[in-house]
Amino acid sequence: MKHKVDYDIVVIGGGIVGLASAYKISRNYPAISIAVLEKEDKIAAHQTGHNSGVIHSGLYYKPGSNKAKTCAEGRKQLIAFAKEHNIAYEICGKIIVATREKELANLERVFSNGLENQIEGIEKIGPDEISEIEPFCRGIAGIRVPCTGIIDFTEVAKKLAELIVARPGGSRQEEQGQNKILTSHKVVLCDKHDYFTNVVTNNGTFAARYIINCAGLQCDRVAKICGVEPKMRIVPFRGDYYDLTEQAKEKVKNLIYPVPDPQLPFLGVHFTRRIDGSVECGPNAVFSFKREGYGKTDFNIRDSWESLSYRGTWKLFRRHFKYGISEYARAFSRKLFLRGLRRFIPSLQAEDIKPGNAGVRAQAVEPNGEPLDDFRIEKREGSIHVLNAPSPAATASLAIGDYINQIASEHFELGD
Ligand SMILES: Cc1cc2nc3c(=O)[nH]c(=O)nc-3n(C[C@H](O)[C@H](O)[C@H](O)COP(=O)(O)OP(=O)(O)OC[C@H]3O[C@@H](n4cnc5c(N)ncnc54)[C@H](O)[C@@H]3O)c2cc1C
Repeated sequence: MKHKVDYDIVVIGGGIVGLASAYKISRNYPAISIAVLEKEDKIAAHQTGHNSGVIHSGLYYKPGSNKAKTCAEGRKQLIAFAKEHNIAYEICGKIIVATREKELANLERVFSNGLENQIEGIEKIGPDEISEIEPFCRGIAGIRVPCTGIIDFTEVAKKLAELIVARPGGSRQEEQGQNKILTSHKVVLCDKHDYFTNVVTNNGTFAARYIINCAGLQCDRVAKICGVEPKMRIVPFRGDYYDLTEQAKEKVKNLIYPVPDPQLPFLGVHFTRRIDGSVECGPNAVFSFKREGYGKTDFNIRDSWESLSYRGTWKLFRRHFKYGISEYARAFSRKLFLRGLRRFIPSLQAEDIKPGNAGVRAQAVEPNGEPLDDFRIEKREGSIHVLNAPSPAATASLAIGDYINQIASEHFELGD
């Protein structure tokens, strides 16, 4: 017997992945009711609102992986979405630049990977073309990726939220349907019964038939309160950015990236022109003592204990000890950070950069210390859990939403 519920589906987390999932399901099943519960007083408060704003091409990811499939597809959908809804974006292209001989083999590997992933228009470039595209940048070889772009993912999230609450086809307030985006609603408990779950928040309890956990930096904890024991833990890594000053902005035209080291989980410090015209350099990657801590010395006892009492964290540290120490040094030394940047733009001076924003990545780590590389989305009875959605999940969000919609269609009884 069906129990009367407040919502057919409760999505936990108002970041871009939760919102894209709710949006896709609301379009596929206009008759059902969906609530997106967000603990902060606004949507996109964490990773979605603290990222580089790059529409990734998809050339780095292992062919056939979820990342490779959803990034390329998500990019195309994202651009169409931005066009349709007048969200500012630009396909400005990027270059990946090798500055040392020892990077050339990896550069080659990235290029072949890009070809295998069928990334449009990529080409190898030499030092002359590097300085033609980016006059202040120096390198010995590179790849030009013309389909990379920039966008403000917070704007995308806001539009998705607006469309979720509007009836399909309508957008005015009076056309609002039964869907809700409820901010300042932190989910603290999910009490599962046979045909429904009571989702308890700090602001009321809602009975829902199905749950979708898209809680980003908190997704492992939310899985646990839903009765699911995930075989991973979120270990947070903060990334600090510097901004180029008004006078130095001309030194970067678009996007300049290093050659990624396949042994490391993060891309490395890059230069990004943002859609608002500012230019960011970063981020680095340091272990964070607070999951949602954006300051260099932020600390939270529960977050630190959960990360540091996890054997996977120590195994990860041991494996990347040297890298971790150098990233820490860079986090506290502007001189070292600048040295990393000058590898690409030798003329950069200390007075050209000023401290900028920071973001915290939700890095899922397995008990053996392996950082989970691919997106991980698991289905359980009556629930779906997004357990790893790091970069490029913002680019891929609409394709991830399609995938979650497909799982929901197959496993939830949503009717026609
Ligand atoms: C520094 C940095 C740079 C990046 N750059 C890029 C880039 O250029 N391009 C790209 O494609 N990707 C980039 N990414 C990755 C991208 O930002 C993330 O993959 C994406 O934003 C993940 O979205 P999400 O919805 O899963 O998580 P989030 O945006 O973190 O959203 C999760 C939400 O869940 C909420 N929540 C948590 N617990 C609860 C609870 N108990 N109850 C209710 N709500 C809860 C949180 O408050 C949060 O709003 C970057 C990430 C970082 C950190």
